[in-house]
Amino acid sequence: MKYIFYGAGGYAQEYFDNFRKQYEPFCFVDQAAKEGQILFGLPVLPPSVMLYQYSDMPIIITCNPAYGKLDVQDYLVRELGIAPTRIINYEPYRYTTSCATLENTVLIFKDRISICCNGAGRNPSPYAFFSVSSPTEKIKVYRVLREAIKNALEMGRECACSGCPYLEKRAVALNQRPLTDVAVNFAHTCNLKCSYCNSKSDKTEAINILAYSELLQEMKRSGLIDATTQLTLASGEISIHSSRREIFDMLKEFQCTVFSNCVLFDDLLSDFLATGNKVLNCSVDAGTRETYAMIKGANCFERVLENLRSYSLHGKIILKYIFIEDVNDNNKDVDAFIRLCRELNPIYTQISRDRFNPSPISNNMMNQMARMFIEAPNAQPIRDSLTNDEIICINSTAKQMIKNKQK
Ligand code: SF4
Ligand code: SF4
Repeated sequence: MKYIFYGAGGYAQEYFDNFRKQYEPFCFVDQAAKEGQILFGLPVLPPSVMLYQYSDMPIIITCNPAYGKLDVQDYLVRELGIAPTRIINYEPYRYTTSCATLENTVLIFKDRISICCNGAGRNPSPYAFFSVSSPTEKIKVYRVLREAIKNALEMGRECACSGCPYLEKRAVALNQRPLTDVAVNFAHTCNLKCSYCNSKSDKTEAINILAYSELLQEMKRSGLIDATTQLTLASGEISIHSSRREIFDMLKEFQCTVFSNCVLFDDLLSDFLATGNKVLNCSVDAGTRETYAMIKGANCFERVLENLRSYSLHGKIILKYIFIEDVNDNNKDVDAFIRLCRELNPIYTQISRDRFNPSPISNNMMNQMARMFIEAPNAQPIRDSLTNDEIICINSTAKQMIKNKQK
């Protein structure tokens, strides 16, 4: 049997192999389909084909479960009138007040579990300390915290998330589903000094890898994470961590995104990337040597680009651009960065901003973000530092730019 893959964006492209292993694709369908568009050798068609040409063919939604899958499902069922039974990965859902991270992510530290990172103080980042060492009890601590918040939001009561700008009315799954993202954190040093860094650890703390590993295994056993969950490894620079071999061993069975500044080319990291289902995320934040040095505190722009080229031969990469007012929001840097993205073809080009700047985004920065959104491959504004309203504004500015060009 063949299936329509609904959604041809970055998520569909990243997980195409996973979807294809289970379901034989017939075509992609996407609201943003362009005439003659082909993806992985398959045509990308507009939604109308599901209604008129292939009205019996089953559908798999290939959109990110954390951001958008349920909204797409809602659009298919309520606006296009497609029967839920035709959607193979349909999930019962409802609209309520929540946020993407509360529904889908968790951060684990050696002594606590946190629902989200605090967006440089923009949100309260609910957390609970572990008073126990048993992995089962640690998971219970997390579940109690999350359920208490969800219930309070549902009832309109004050809770740890009250007042957070990321709260919105959104579709949430009724049945428990695995988390989509788990960040594994431990303090360690870095060989750069980025102006916006909030991970100022100047020492690498000894970590109990066994405790992290047991917790991850228990999360797996309890259904809290599964093979589709993306683990991220951030804080400090992993390529200089003395225990990185053990850390990579612990994580190798999972889908994993590793953050590195790529100042060094590390064989262990490169081998880890080559094990499959691994992605390297590098914040470049500049298109020129001068701007890079100003932001990162080191003159190694060309070396980073060379290492990125090498890493991209071993695995998938994500390139990130953290916009900083009056530093890298200019044509010269943005153009050169877009050229780099076109050369390296990252699975995502992430658009972000300095989280510690609370001022509204200037018109100039908004225009540069929108331009990157249009011109860089697989570009997406990300929620670690941008509010929902800012992301909506980037989208609408980009749409306006496209319209102006067409005139
Ligand atoms: S609503 Fe805000 S504080 Fe609560 S989990 Fe979401 S981002 Fe964090
Ligand atoms: S590369 Fe990352 S950890 Fe290192 S200074 Fe920059 S932001 Fe901080």
